[in-house]
Amino acid sequence: MSEKKIPYKIYLTEDEMPKQWYNMRADMKNKPAPLLNPGTGKPLTAEELSPIFCEELVKQELDDTTAFVEIPEEIREFYKMYRPSPLVRAYCLEEKLQTPAKIYYKFEGNNTSGSHKLNSAIAQAYYAKKQGLKGVTTETGAGQWGTALSMACSYFDLDCKVYMVKVSYEQKPFRREVMRTYGASVVPSPSETTEVGKKILAEHPGTTGSLGCAISEAVEVATKNPGYRYVLGSVLNQVLLHQSVIGLETKTALDKYGIKPDIIIGCAGGGSNLGGLIAPFMGEKLRGEADYRIIAVEPASCPSFTRGTFAYDFCDTGMICPLAKMYTLGSGFIPSPNHAGGLRFHGMSTILSQLYHDKMMEAVSVEQTSVFEAAEQFARVEGILPAPESSHAIRAAIDEALKCKETGEEKTIVFGLTGTGYFDMVAYEKYHDGLMTDEIPTDAQLKESFAKLPKIG
Ligand SMILES: *Cc1c(COP(=O)(O)O)cnc(C)c1O
Repeated sequence: MSEKKIPYKIYLTEDEMPKQWYNMRADMKNKPAPLLNPGTGKPLTAEELSPIFCEELVKQELDDTTAFVEIPEEIREFYKMYRPSPLVRAYCLEEKLQTPAKIYYKFEGNNTSGSHKLNSAIAQAYYAKKQGLKGVTTETGAGQWGTALSMACSYFDLDCKVYMVKVSYEQKPFRREVMRTYGASVVPSPSETTEVGKKILAEHPGTTGSLGCAISEAVEVATKNPGYRYVLGSVLNQVLLHQSVIGLETKTALDKYGIKPDIIIGCAGGGSNLGGLIAPFMGEKLRGEADYRIIAVEPASCPSFTRGTFAYDFCDTGMICPLAKMYTLGSGFIPSPNHAGGLRFHGMSTILSQLYHDKMMEAVSVEQTSVFEAAEQFARVEGILPAPESSHAIRAAIDEALKCKETGEEKTIVFGLTGTGYFDMVAYEKYHDGLMTDEIPTDAQLKESFAKLPKIG
C-alpha cells in the first residue's frame, strides 16, 4: 500500500488555524426553530435577548444565514496559547482491539480547564469586555464550563459569578478551587441567594440540584445586576458556532493527508462539542458534497435524543428562560443522583435536534459502567485519562471498531476526546469499587415528565 504513513499526531501550524468560525445553520434547509418568549409564545427578538446576553452574542444567536464569521484577532491570539489541538491517530488502541478500523481522536484536554469549553468561554468573555460590561454569571455542572469561564474572565479582567450544581460542588471541591484561583465566586445551586433558588429549595428540600436550576439562578442574578450578562457554555447556537473551531481544525488536519472519515462520533450533553466537531462535515453533507455517518452518544440515564421528545421546552428548571424546540426529557427531569458520567442536561441544542429530526445524524445511548470500562481501556493504551463525558464517545468508537473487526471493514473513525478526567476520580473510584450502577429512567417516569411540557401551538 502506498498510503502515506500517518503520524501519531497531526498538528497544524498557526497559519493553518481557522480565521473564521463556521455556522452550520447557513446550509440547513430546515432551520432550527426560533427561541420563543415564554410570556408571549412569539420568537424572541434581539431587544428581548439583550438584557440577558451580550449584544454581539445575540446577533450570533439569531443569525441563521451567515456561513462564516470572522474570529476576532484577540480571540485568535488566545487560541494560540492552547491550540491547535492535536488530532491523534489511536494506533495503540487499534492494536489493542486488533481492529482493521483506523481511529482518530481530536483531543481538547490540553488546557488548564481540561476541556473544549474554553473555545467558547474566551469568545463570550471577549464580547462582554468589548461591550464594557462589569462581569458575567453562569451555571456549571461538573465544573468544566465554570473553570473555562473563570480562566477567560480573568484574562479579560471581568467579574465571574458561577452557580455550581450542588452535587458537583460537594463531589468536586478541586474544580471549585481552580475557579477561585482564577478569581471567580462559586455558589452551590440551588441556593438562598436568588428568588428562584429559594423557591426550588422550598419545593424540593434536599435536592442535589441540576443544570436547569443553576441556569435559572444565574439568569436571575445577571438580569438583576446592572453591567452583568448571563453566559452559557453549551446548547446555544452561538456556542456551537465558537466550537466549530474543533471541526475546522480536524478537517484541515485530515485533508493534509487526504483522509476521509466514514464515521464521526461525539458525546452529547447540550451538543456543543459534537456540533463543533461535525460542523464542516455536516456542511458538506447538507450541501450534498459528501456523506458521513455522524453519531451522538449520550448517557442511558439522561437520554435526550434516544428517548426524549421533539418539542418546545424550557432550558431551565425554574422556567424563566426562553423556550427552545429540542429533543428534551422535560425541564423538570433530573438524572439519578448516582449518575456520575456528566452530560446531565435535559435538553439538546436546537441545531442538532433539527438535524437529528431530519435524519442527518444518529444517536445511541450507553450505560455508565460500560462508559467507564471504555475509559479505563483507553487510558491504559493511549496514555490520556479521559473525562467521563468524553468516554461516552470512546465507548461508541470502540464499539464501531469492534464491528469492523467482525466484518473486516477498514473504516475510518474520528471521535471527539473532549477533555481529561483528573477531577472525576470520585466517579472512577465508584467504578473501581464496583459501586457504580446503571439507573435508567422508566417509561413511566419520562411520561410523567413529558406531561409537564409547556403547551405550545
Ligand atoms: C461539558 C462537557 C461535555 C458536554 O458538553 P457538550 O456541550 O455536549 O459538548 C463533554 N465533555 C467534556 C469534557 C465537557 O466538559
